[in-house]
Amino acid sequence: MSFIKSWIRKDIQDMKAYHVPEARELTKLDAMESPFIPNKDFEVEFIENITKVNINRYPDPLAKALARSIRNLMDIDNSLDILFGNGSDELIQLLALACDEGDTILSFSPSFVMYETIAKFAKLKYVDSPLQDFDINLKETLTLIENHKPKIIFIAYPNNPTGNLFDRNKIISIIESTKALVVIDEAYFAFSNDSFLGDLKSFKNLVILRTISKISFAGVRLGLLIGEPETINQFQKLRLPYNINSLTQVTCEFLLKKKNYILDSAKYIVSERERVFRALSKIDSLKVYPSDANFLLIKSREAKELNNFLLYNGILVKSFNETDSLKNFLELQLEKKKRTTKC
Ligand code: PMP
Repeated sequence: MSFIKSWIRKDIQDMKAYHVPEARELTKLDAMESPFIPNKDFEVEFIENITKVNINRYPDPLAKALARSIRNLMDIDNSLDILFGNGSDELIQLLALACDEGDTILSFSPSFVMYETIAKFAKLKYVDSPLQDFDINLKETLTLIENHKPKIIFIAYPNNPTGNLFDRNKIISIIESTKALVVIDEAYFAFSNDSFLGDLKSFKNLVILRTISKISFAGVRLGLLIGEPETINQFQKLRLPYNINSLTQVTCEFLLKKKNYILDSAKYIVSERERVFRALSKIDSLKVYPSDANFLLIKSREAKELNNFLLYNGILVKSFNETDSLKNFLELQLEKKKRTTKC
């Protein structure tokens, strides 16, 4: 046996690394990104700002200037605190790190895969509550909470990959029924009409996870955990000292001030979502699901062939062919209006 195989944890040896498909020369619609490129749209200012950075110095550990921009963009008032992560994935990992050995993380299926993956990294138990018609099965979830006493419950709102908002009242019942920390993951908040930000004051066990990846900043890697100062202070202790690098800080500090640009880009995506939804709904062989996010989920008995056809036409969407419960589904992000396909 090789050195590393005898050294590495058995469960890590059995895992597969997160796979990102090669997208060279393809129109990439598989990662739920934004088609808008703020550093190009504000190129001169961007270059001016970025060259001011002294990269020989460590970044501001609290990213204070960036925090001011993000508070203004997302209307987060000063009574709440923010913990920044290198993407919201890093914050999911940090939350898992705060759990005790043997603790359980609960989420839903299908939902964002990293909740389960990170639970496994951290050697935590993972339980999921299957969705019923893409909504939370409250009875089943409350039973799981009773039986497993989870330490954290992750609720993606809107959900990925189904794209919808779950019933808000069911979420409130869950928050009230548990001693778990409930994390509402609002990665797609910009494209939906609801948020739990206004509920943070009412529930001590609630925090909100957000990212700027879906609003044109996936490349800079910035996620945020928003909560009461007492809660955020505890998690701050687990953050690595300089996790938000200087280039991210300066880019975000000034580009996140472009509030109208960011809000208008999100509005454009929402209008495209409705247009593409109507167009695809006319195709008999497809079922298209209503979405509150920047993507559409599509079901087709010919999902595999459709995926191949799109690839042939230079379009990469997310295929769930490898996932049993989502075998006939494809997920695609909304783009700017442009090309036509060839057969
Ligand atoms: N939460 C959800 C629901 C997501 O879909 C994603 C990314 N697709 C993330 C979190 C991770 O976002 P980030 O880029 O900030 O790590």
